[in-house]
Amino acid sequence: MRLGGSEGKLRAARRGEAKKFGPKKAICRSIEGGRQEEMKARLQVMKFGGTSVGDASCIARAVEIIAQAAKQNGCIAVVSAMSGVTNRLIEAAKKAQTGNSGEAAAVVDALRQQHEAALTSLIQHQEERVRIRQRMDEVLGEGRRLCEGTALLRELTPRTLDAISSLGERLSAPLVAAAVRERGLPSEAIEATELIVTDAFHGGAEPHMELTRKKSQARLRPLLEKGIAPVVTGFIGATLEGQLTTLGRGGSDYSATILGAAMDADEVIIWTDVDGVLTADPRLVEEARTIPVISYREAAELAYFGARVLHPKTLNPVVQAAIPVWIRNSFACERPGTKITPEGRSIGGGVKALTAIRDVTLISVGGPGIVGLPDVLGRTFSTTAEVRANVLLISQSSSQNDICFIVSTVDAQRTVEALRKEFAQDLAHHKVEHITVDSSVAIVAVVGENMRGTPGIAGRTFNALGREKVNLIAIAQGSSECNISFVIDEKAVKTALNTAHREFGLEASPN
Ligand code: ADP
Ligand code: ASP
Ligand code: MG
Repeated sequence: MRLGGSEGKLRAARRGEAKKFGPKKAICRSIEGGRQEEMKARLQVMKFGGTSVGDASCIARAVEIIAQAAKQNGCIAVVSAMSGVTNRLIEAAKKAQTGNSGEAAAVVDALRQQHEAALTSLIQHQEERVRIRQRMDEVLGEGRRLCEGTALLRELTPRTLDAISSLGERLSAPLVAAAVRERGLPSEAIEATELIVTDAFHGGAEPHMELTRKKSQARLRPLLEKGIAPVVTGFIGATLEGQLTTLGRGGSDYSATILGAAMDADEVIIWTDVDGVLTADPRLVEEARTIPVISYREAAELAYFGARVLHPKTLNPVVQAAIPVWIRNSFACERPGTKITPEGRSIGGGVKALTAIRDVTLISVGGPGIVGLPDVLGRTFSTTAEVRANVLLISQSSSQNDICFIVSTVDAQRTVEALRKEFAQDLAHHKVEHITVDSSVAIVAVVGENMRGTPGIAGRTFNALGREKVNLIAIAQGSSECNISFVIDEKAVKTALNTAHREFGLEASPN
């Protein structure tokens, strides 16, 4: 991520880049006397998370937000699946993989009922209802066939898993678009496979921004110019060959900023179920408070270290163009939320927020013999890169007996298998003595851009944790000094977060 530089400079750079693809088209509005005045409409990309489209009443709230925004600005909505749907689809896929097509079909039926209930409550026009029902039937039929195929072969490829887990967004987008139309605003549901071009890494695909920009501009600009609000499926994209991919769990946030950057949006608003980015996860720290302004770097650190409110890659696409990202509560849309900007706002030094990642595994490669193996580090991390494991934290003792690092638990098995293969000879000759795994750990991160030049934060953190008898397994501090992270027993997460939150007075500081 490239950070720094003034917002003005970055915005100028963005305008320069926009020229490459043709300027943002102005929307013409006729005014009295027949004179035409060119008005540059602002463009907002708004993403609604699972809970924000969780049932008919939530969708109605989201629709109202879209309709109000579209009165003044161009508005592209990006929607997640209704909450819980993606989890259930993945469950169905896993059931199918064991040959149990009956249970998988039952999940598909339950999803039909859930979406049908929302449809009936939201859409009064009979013809429109029939049309959306047909669209949903097509998507659900595809889901059923994918599960049957999986059950028959008892094989679930990453490609099929992507196809099955994408169904939730492919159901919610037509529903939301229909509800927007019902509210009197022209709208069209669009599958992001038409817009976002990705590589073929199923389950965590990366966008190809130039191609995405071309496709999105070509498809969405004409709609916006006609005053039609596009409702785009979050979470998904497609390879250049048209193969559906997903951007990773929680990836609709990423879809929104990818589209925000591709469309030169003025801002991206992520509507969710909390008031913004808080000083800690409110589910774990009751006293957590909303942070009004936070920098890209701080928000990215929080997201990277597990603050679920933002997908870890959310800010990457908007950094270059300095597009502000808001996090707001769709259940309390009068509240201002958090604004994420290039510079954030100084709080005069210190800690801004805390976060924790629980589903992580500590892998250690070691034994006294590794001192004589100069390339152990290189080989270890080329192996993790080969299997695309996301290494979250690295720690090596100066005695060099051990390298330990943390990966997401979902990546752990394939990482360890790959390492055992890479070091097979060394293990056999006892040059490497062990490759061990511990998944009962968690990472806690203390984040704040102004920690740079504020001595004593690490000391205060570890003293406070010591008083509460929280045992530290490993410690890391990035050279950017934007975070201090440490590994502890998973069971101690809540104590650690609450202790550090109190130590730094986060419940009270004006941020
Ligand atoms: P959505 O479905 O809208 O994408 P998510 O469940 O993915 O919502 O993310 C919102 C949740 O993130 C909140 O309900 C909250 O529990 C959790 N969360 C974790 N850390 C933070 C934080 N620092 N600030 C706000 N929310 C957080
Ligand atoms: N529906 C997807 C998920 O649950 C994407 C998202 O909600 O952001 O992971
Ligand atoms: Mg989310």
